[in-house]
Amino acid sequence: IELDIQLFCKQIIHSLHLSFEDKNQIILNFDGDFPSELELWDEKLLWHILHNLLNNALKYSPQGGKIFLNIIAEEKTVTFSIKDQGIGISQESQQHLFETFYRADNVGNISGTGLGLSIVRKCVEAYNGNIFVESELDNGTTFRVILPRQQQLMGKMGESVEQIKSSVGYHEQTK
Ligand code: ATP
Ligand code: MG
Repeated sequence: IELDIQLFCKQIIHSLHLSFEDKNQIILNFDGDFPSELELWDEKLLWHILHNLLNNALKYSPQGGKIFLNIIAEEKTVTFSIKDQGIGISQESQQHLFETFYRADNVGNISGTGLGLSIVRKCVEAYNGNIFVESELDNGTTFRVILPRQQQLMGKMGESVEQIKSSVGYHEQTK
């Protein structure tokens, strides 16, 4: 399947704008070049990663906060960074973020199940990628996902998105 990464990101952003009613602006920026190796990427895994991280960025940001999706292609990796100006995550909570059902105590009445990031972590692992978080309470959050460009490094567990989702107890949520 040919994956046009720009179009792909725009489609995710479009679907989120519909469900969040244009609450925040998402600023998309590309750096480096994106030749055909990207065709090999698993579209579904990548969709879950970006959709969940952008969904969180929107959900945990005040109205009008800006969200930056920056994508940098380097020789061996592609780095996605998702930066928001939202409620932030304390150092203590950062230790637990990727655990199933974990939610930080500053979420107030923002609803969620605590599953999104455990799915993201599994999908990133399936690619042999890495994910990092940088955040400060009340001062925005940046998630950085680094994925290898070459297919031989991806899908090490051979897990499908459906297997990953059921292994973390995920059920399609009603928004
Ligand atoms: P859902 O399963 O619907 O995604 P959720 O958003 O609560 O629910 P996760 O996406 O796994 O669950 O995130 C876990 C917790 O990490 C959140 O409850 C929140 O406390 C914190 N978190 C995640 N992303 C952000 C962010 N961008 N800004 C602030 N807090 C965040
Ligand atoms: Mg979430």
